[in-house]
Amino acid sequence: MKHTIKCLLVFAIFLFQACSNNQKMEDTKQQNALIFPKGEKITNGNFIGDVWLSALVQPDSLNQNAIGSVTFEPGTRTKWHSHPAGQIILALEGEGYYQEKGSPKVIVRKGDAVKCPPDIPHWHGASVNSTFIQLAITGREKGETIWLEAVTDEEYNGGLK
Ligand code: MN
Repeated sequence: MKHTIKCLLVFAIFLFQACSNNQKMEDTKQQNALIFPKGEKITNGNFIGDVWLSALVQPDSLNQNAIGSVTFEPGTRTKWHSHPAGQIILALEGEGYYQEKGSPKVIVRKGDAVKCPPDIPHWHGASVNSTFIQLAITGREKGETIWLEAVTDEEYNGGLK
């Protein structure tokens, strides 16, 4: 009888350790998946849906690029806008969309790099079923981003290349 209790106790300790190791592995996996902090929810009205920004690099007199990590929930996007000195988008996670005015929408996947030319109206965001995380590198030497009209659902769901 004593032996049985001892066995049960050892088994319980073993189970507890196995579970706690598994939780630690899950925590590490989640930390590894997020390269940069998610940041703060954007509330400036230039985005449609829940989008987060982590400002990583501020422009200064020596380097006038602003760099931010932007997390788009599925279905969310920017308004139409343009950047006077252009922008580079690096896709870190998930699947998103990018579209320049007058051109078809393109799918942007983790690992893709997109160059937005200066002064070309465009929008970017997550695809319907995927969270999309991007690094946005925006030249500020010629002024701030110019925000335009909202991207309609028709435009958002529009044709791909
Ligand atoms: Mn842009």
